[in-house]
Amino acid sequence: MQSQELLQLTSQFGSPLYVYDAEKIQSQYNRLTAAFSKVERLRINYAVKALSNISVLKLLKEMGSGIDTVSYQEVMLGLHAGFESQHIIYTPNGVSFEEIEEVAEMGVQINIDNLSVLEHFGTKYPKTPVCIRINPHVMAGGNANISVGHIDSKFGISIYQIPHILRIVENTGMHINGIHMHTGSDILDIEVFLYAAEILFDAAKNFKELDFIDFGSGFKVPYKKGDIETNIEELGKKLTKRFNAFEKEYGRELTLTFEPGKFIVSEAGHFLAKVNVIKQTTSTVFAGIDSGFNHLIRPMLYGAQHHIDNISNPKGKERFYTVVGYICETDTFANNRRIAEITEGDILCFKNAGAYCFSMASNYNSRYKPAEVLWKDGKAHLIREREKMEDILKNQIMV
Ligand SMILES: *Cc1c(COP(=O)(O)O)cnc(C)c1O
Repeated sequence: MQSQELLQLTSQFGSPLYVYDAEKIQSQYNRLTAAFSKVERLRINYAVKALSNISVLKLLKEMGSGIDTVSYQEVMLGLHAGFESQHIIYTPNGVSFEEIEEVAEMGVQINIDNLSVLEHFGTKYPKTPVCIRINPHVMAGGNANISVGHIDSKFGISIYQIPHILRIVENTGMHINGIHMHTGSDILDIEVFLYAAEILFDAAKNFKELDFIDFGSGFKVPYKKGDIETNIEELGKKLTKRFNAFEKEYGRELTLTFEPGKFIVSEAGHFLAKVNVIKQTTSTVFAGIDSGFNHLIRPMLYGAQHHIDNISNPKGKERFYTVVGYICETDTFANNRRIAEITEGDILCFKNAGAYCFSMASNYNSRYKPAEVLWKDGKAHLIREREKMEDILKNQIMV
């Protein structure tokens, strides 16, 4: 999207504002399916938690995507957006048994990552097909918050517990129709991914009636200059070859499944915020914007570095700024960053604001959540209204 268009949208819809470029979402989806075009049966289940607006879900549904969900509410959003239950997979962690039952009753594919839940579920519903989430114990990224495959991870059933899984399956007579892994959010190295895939193939041989193998996600997109991006095309080539060979060896038709979130929506998103104040201190120039970690928490939570452009003065001379929010707490978006000269009232544009940005927003400091706009076919569609005071008061009871 052009800066001029983004600037225009900010004057039309106000700030702060999230804008998503539909074309970028579509091209990322197409890139992924093209990389695996030599796989007979491919299923992309978009991870709803990355960006859960129902208009975005509908867009992905029209592309032929399914969805990956982690809560009852995400399942309901998916159904609302028009997905059929058989195109939804539910991968909960630590939720109540009642919630799993409720989702299973809707005909959604259940993915279980806990032995005791597996035994309980298999005993009660031996006829409902279940997918198993395996922890292959492979470290993906370096950040402990997003490496979910390591030995102390709360996610998945350890690969070393396969004998126990088999015992439960035998005892309950339940039907395992899928096997799954999701090793974390940052795959830097394709070889590491392929190594984990081999572990999953090995595990798959223990189950005779699989319909699909789900390799999760963790595809990386660049946030700042010099960032590594998962080479999807190379992964596609290598994994396709292995998958097709495994399918032959396995002797039964299998679907290759992925559940990407970040890869599909991250780069499509722009977060626009207005500079309220410029504040010069003894050592730093602060640019204070009309937002905070209530709207975009990734820089503070994960140390994510979102590229920032001053779209009001794109040709301005670059200077060093520390970009901060208006929350009564330290909320630094960027430290000592080179940005085209900022004047109060300018609009800053944060890149890569599609994934885990709005979906992690809160009302901290009793601020409204921003509006969301979908930019599609050269037109702006408001897909979420900015909150109002009524929304802050909603559900509160004064006694
Ligand atoms: C979060 C999550 C995803 C999506 O991860 P991305 O890094 O956004 O692609 C996929 N599968 C599961 C089970 C998840 O929890």
